[in-house]
Amino acid sequence: MSIAQKLHDIKSSIPDNVTLVAVSKTKPVADLMEAYEAGQRIFGENKIQEMTEKWQQMPKDIEWHMIGHVQSNKVKYMVPYVKLIHGVDSLKLLKEINRQAVRWRKNINCLLQIHIAEEETKFGLNEHELEELLHSEEFKAMTNIKIVGLMGMATFTDNQEQIKREFNHLKKMFDALKNQPTTQNLQPTTLSMGMSGDYQIAIDCGSTMVRIGSSIFGSR
Ligand SMILES: *Cc1c(COP(=O)(O)O)cnc(C)c1O
Repeated sequence: MSIAQKLHDIKSSIPDNVTLVAVSKTKPVADLMEAYEAGQRIFGENKIQEMTEKWQQMPKDIEWHMIGHVQSNKVKYMVPYVKLIHGVDSLKLLKEINRQAVRWRKNINCLLQIHIAEEETKFGLNEHELEELLHSEEFKAMTNIKIVGLMGMATFTDNQEQIKREFNHLKKMFDALKNQPTTQNLQPTTLSMGMSGDYQIAIDCGSTMVRIGSSIFGSR
């Protein structure tokens, strides 16, 4: 099946209010262009250099999302064009994003990554760290970033009940966040959860944004 066909099939299997991020990491520009020609405008990458190279080569009406772990010293390279950073998991990183955004006179949308999986290796904040970050004076003083929601990855397992439990946990945290008074830099609308293997469960659990790679572009 062609990329366009797979994209079409996935789009028709997700509700209109759920945003599809086409995860194109490791894939050549020709593959991304095929998705672009089929109407896809949001692409997710996990390495800054690769994302920058693709951004340079591709049409400028694309929204580029950084979905991977971000090192503070690399933030400056993507701030000029990145639309949404999914994996913000520390105050230190957020400070650097804000600092670079000020320099470039931009406003950068961010999702805070929450650790919901049982694996140690997945990045993210726990509930306590999330509260601490949001209540810190440093966060409140940031002028050029906006937290637009949360992101999380479930454990890589066949156990559907476990995945569901983890997504439900993230949804609860998202609802709690939405119940807080919004401020200039806290306006949560987006819950980024679900990948090729688990996006149907994620949507059932309240996801508003799915990040799908291999089901569109093939295995990596
Ligand atoms: C690679 C990646 C995805 C997409 O994974 P697939 O299983 O190929 O759909 C989604 N989210 C993150 C954070 C990723 O790194």
